[in-house]
Amino acid sequence: MAKKGRQRAKGRITGSAGRFGPRYGRFIRKRVNEVEKVSRAKHVCPRCDTQAVSRQGTGIWECRKCGFKFAGGAYVPQTPNLKVALRTIERSLVKES
Ligand SMILES: [Zn+2]
Repeated sequence: MAKKGRQRAKGRITGSAGRFGPRYGRFIRKRVNEVEKVSRAKHVCPRCDTQAVSRQGTGIWECRKCGFKFAGGAYVPQTPNLKVALRTIERSLVKES
């Protein structure tokens, strides 16, 4: 009974990982929670600059406003590696011209 009260939630990091109950350890659940929070959030579209990009599947992202569909990270549209790659591409393009 007391479990349903908000006051009882002290010290819990459940969030979306609450579905696992006490299983898998608290650090793994915390990480799952963070990843799911980011992957379900709306992101900025690289084409129209509005916050309307949502995750369609693993690595597939789509803008709800302009319909732009693109490949990205599995859980975030832009991984740190992608940023490095884009910088390298840009630099090589500048060098050629
Ligand atoms: Zn867009």
